[in-house]
Amino acid sequence: MKRLEGKTALVTGAARGIGLEIALAFAAEGASVAVADLSQADSAAAAADIAAKTGAKTLGLGLDVSKEADCERAVAEAEQAFGRLDILVNNAGITKDNLVLRMKEADFSAVIDVNLKGAFLMAKAASKLMLKARSGRIVNISSVVGQSGQAGQANYSASKAGLIGLTKSLAREFAPRQVLVNAVAPGFIRTRMTETLKDEAKAKISEMIPLGRMGEPGEVAKAALFLASDDSAYITGQVLAVNGGLYM
Ligand code: NAP
Repeated sequence: MKRLEGKTALVTGAARGIGLEIALAFAAEGASVAVADLSQADSAAAAADIAAKTGAKTLGLGLDVSKEADCERAVAEAEQAFGRLDILVNNAGITKDNLVLRMKEADFSAVIDVNLKGAFLMAKAASKLMLKARSGRIVNISSVVGQSGQAGQANYSASKAGLIGLTKSLAREFAPRQVLVNAVAPGFIRTRMTETLKDEAKAKISEMIPLGRMGEPGEVAKAALFLASDDSAYITGQVLAVNGGLYM
């Protein structure tokens, strides 16, 4: 039996990178998956690709997670297509790195709006269905720098630390209705977000990681799959680090 047979999921930022791997992993385990990303065309292409690879029912949705109306529409469209919504993964995220003295207010706000407010808005929209159904899973993709802090990423690490607080608060609020909320905190993962790092920086990072290498998007997807599946039925309000031991 597949681990998400009969379930339906919505993954944000799923046209590429970690989100795409999560959507693919869920579909391979039998879930119907809504692929939601900024570009409707990219979402539709990723959804079609996942359907071709897995045979799962998929849907491509265009949305900006920092806009409440987009979040409500995306959840409504997923419910209309699949009849219910069991799993939400808040994965959409951006960086606008700079040292604090050079960081513009707009760059601080933009990162908080997408990474933190976006997760709140999506959770708010999806939880209406989940609380009514008295069942559901929300998985928030935080980051190791939300736990450790990082020079040059005050906005990003604040957003990811905020996401951990949001996860724990939602977990407490939704637990009476059996809606479980957890976070995954990836370390350095090989995606577009990290490919701009110079080779020298990548080598230095790998030296700092006890397992001696950067992680793969599929390795984060496996943690998200665990938290979305029945295997984690007694786990809520937790942060699962997938960082090669970088932060313990
Ligand atoms: P990525 O390759 O840049 O993918 C992020 C996706 O999110 C993109 O498809 C992007 O769309 C989409 N997105 C951006 N803003 C959005 C918005 N307002 N509404 C909807 N979608 C939006 O990044 P990734 O490395 O896979 O990261 C995925 C998540 O993991 C992020 O939350 C990131 O912070 C977290 N994370 C990553 C790492 C890492 O090392 N890679 C480590 C820790 C945590 P466009 O392509 O159209 O911009």
